[in-house]
Amino acid sequence: MTEGLPPADQNLAVEASGLCKWFKKFQALRDVDLQVRRGERIVICGPSGSGKSTLIRCLNGLETCQQGQIRVNGRALAPGKNNLEIRRSIGMVFQSFNLFPHLSVLQNCTLAQVRAQKRSKEEAVEIARHYLARVKIIDQAGKFPSQLSGGQQQRAAIARALCMKPGTMLFDEPTSALDPEMIKEVLDVMVSLAEDGMTMICVTHEMGFARKVADRIIFMDEGRIVEEAPPEIFFSSPQTRRAQLFLDQIL
Ligand code: ADP
Ligand code: MG
Repeated sequence: MTEGLPPADQNLAVEASGLCKWFKKFQALRDVDLQVRRGERIVICGPSGSGKSTLIRCLNGLETCQQGQIRVNGRALAPGKNNLEIRRSIGMVFQSFNLFPHLSVLQNCTLAQVRAQKRSKEEAVEIARHYLARVKIIDQAGKFPSQLSGGQQQRAAIARALCMKPGTMLFDEPTSALDPEMIKEVLDVMVSLAEDGMTMICVTHEMGFARKVADRIIFMDEGRIVEEAPPEIFFSSPQTRRAQLFLDQIL
């Protein structure tokens, strides 16, 4: 499923062309085109229900779209296949953390490494400890998710995703479920990933973060990309009334 896309370009991490997605009769994505360069940081924003989650879930194969093509690191996502290798190259962090409640933080970080990537237990633990230190919760490694604060749980979820050594990280409103005092500790981790050159696609309404790290803001409404601009342009002179209204509400 690469017709519609230009020849693979190794500088691109993610390419989507003409994506359309329906849930029964409801169209959630309308002809979405997106190209993300390696190392680029994209922030996606827009009203609730505009298709942000659906779009990023399509990019890592959690949802399939009925029309359009997606390529990740030059490889096409095949509809109806499980696309395991491609999906492992994209890490995903959700609003609701999604840690396994019956496993310790360390075990959350080693499980997929051992099962899916066939790393030895020792290697998986070493990698997990590296990334838990990176997100500053190494001292919580032996605890269960329920024993951590929301901010710590989300940092554990980020560490778990990083353990798969993904080329691209997708974030779907990673701070929306957090108390205000915990938002910064998660955003700080995301800023440091951006500074390290990670390719990132972040759905977030944290506009301070967006101004600081985004190369490009994508504004969605009713399943479409309505506006696309660097932050300094998007925030100071949004081109559409819909983006203007949205910014008036959140800023
Ligand atoms: P956003 O993340 O921008 O808030 P979503 O991508 O979650 O929006 O949803 C876009 C639209 O698609 C919404 O109207 C939502 O109700 C609908 N939708 C999302 N997931 C499903 C689903 N699994 N079944 C039916 N409708 C869905
Ligand atoms: Mg959403």
